[in-house]
Amino acid sequence: MAAERLTPLEIMTRLVSFPTVSRDTNLPLIEWVADYLTGHGITPHIWIDPDQPEKAGLYAHVGPEIEGGVLLSGHTDVVPVDGQDWTSDPFVVEERDGRYYGRGCADMKGFDALALWALVEGHYGALSRPLQLAYTFDEEIGCTGAPPLIVEMQKHLPRAESVIVGEPSMLRAVTGHKGGTGFATRVIGHEVHSSLMHQGVSAIMEGARLIEWANRRNADNRAKPPTELAAMFTPPWTTCHVGMISGGTAHNITAGECRFWMDFRVVPGETPAQWEAAYRAEADRVQAEMQAVAPDTRIEVEPVFRVPGLVPEPDGAAESLVRSLTGDNGTHVVSYGTEAGQYQEAGYSAVICGPGDIAQAHQADEFITVAQFEAGHQLMRDLLARLAA
Ligand SMILES: [Zn+2]
Repeated sequence: MAAERLTPLEIMTRLVSFPTVSRDTNLPLIEWVADYLTGHGITPHIWIDPDQPEKAGLYAHVGPEIEGGVLLSGHTDVVPVDGQDWTSDPFVVEERDGRYYGRGCADMKGFDALALWALVEGHYGALSRPLQLAYTFDEEIGCTGAPPLIVEMQKHLPRAESVIVGEPSMLRAVTGHKGGTGFATRVIGHEVHSSLMHQGVSAIMEGARLIEWANRRNADNRAKPPTELAAMFTPPWTTCHVGMISGGTAHNITAGECRFWMDFRVVPGETPAQWEAAYRAEADRVQAEMQAVAPDTRIEVEPVFRVPGLVPEPDGAAESLVRSLTGDNGTHVVSYGTEAGQYQEAGYSAVICGPGDIAQAHQADEFITVAQFEAGHQLMRDLLARLAA
């Protein structure tokens, strides 16, 4: 007996019912998707993260076993609902007032559902070019799940010509975003009574040198005329930011420890790696001064995330495809990082285009309008027709 072909709404309802908050497992969702694909005669490739076996990604291919197809990519994780005031159960899709409510409906299980629907339809249709699906994980905690999955996929699937990352863009073609990288920084000082502070090293005051370095970089970056690429972004320069800091034990003891996060949002044309190198060089310089006073002091700079920027590709395959499908010829860039930059770094032509509004992402009562979801459905039909031609 052939498996049932679910509608996009039925699929979204199933996907939302799995509470795949990034800190928790996504295996039940992946297993359900794998069973659904298998039931339709499509081979699911599951990649389990060896470092956290409760997380997995999935990829699949339909159509001829050739290169040159389209890859639809979405993340399966969602942000928590803790402390949010929801009108209805966040993990049950509910239609009210022309909207589908549920955690992930906009970001981005609505797109995930449409992509899975398209894959099954493509399997039963007569595609002359392949369609591929990738489901990633840990996107919401720094886009750390996609890179190893991309490596696996490149080993096992014919290479796609275009990658569409379906982050909510109101189905506009978003062709650029800043890169980002962040570092957990730990300064280890040398404790003495503050009356003798010349013999000690205050981790807080040394940490402050690094933070002041960030302030100077922000001022320098802002003062420089932006490149043409950078000028598309708000603000059109790389920003350095410390959003959390802690340290010290008493007002009259030089601080033995200071911890903070240093984040960079990097305009295209500069790279997260360059900013990491600059930050490490400054940390080394400060550390040398600290160790001249007390050799047991040091600065530890631990990378937490690194997301390459997405650089617009005016003649790129992905951008051209999405522009011709949506009719959108505007220039759109966003200031948040996505997996599209990681696909591009891995050599793919990549673009962001998905239904729903990023303004609803991560909110209480997250929703996608029925109209956007239907427009996304139409986009998938048009894509299938394109791949069949
Ligand atoms: Zn997202």
